[in-house]
Amino acid sequence: MTRLQTLKPRLATAPTGRVRVFESVSWRSEKQSSSARGYDYRWQKARDRFLASNPLCVYCECDGRVTAATVVDHIAAHRGNEELFWDQTNWQSLCAPCHSGRKQREEASQQ
Ligand SMILES: [Zn+2]
Repeated sequence: MTRLQTLKPRLATAPTGRVRVFESVSWRSEKQSSSARGYDYRWQKARDRFLASNPLCVYCECDGRVTAATVVDHIAAHRGNEELFWDQTNWQSLCAPCHSGRKQREEASQQ
């Protein structure tokens, strides 16, 4: 359990309302640069490596379910900030339903 414990989303215990993730979902379309291709490739490789080392959805794991993760999520919104984007301590593995469900919840909580 020790290794899996560290995979739990750290923000899950943060006070609600203080943490705003996916605050800006439009950065990707606004910030496309000429290096976008290489960037996407690098991200794809890094994401694959991360998923290989962290194969389970951390949200499901919190609920006692074992689900294969398919998405690497940024715990804190990077908003195009490269340092935050590539900081693996800011990454967590999620399954697709948790990833989309989380976004919907957080978007709803901001209204
Ligand atoms: Zn999940």
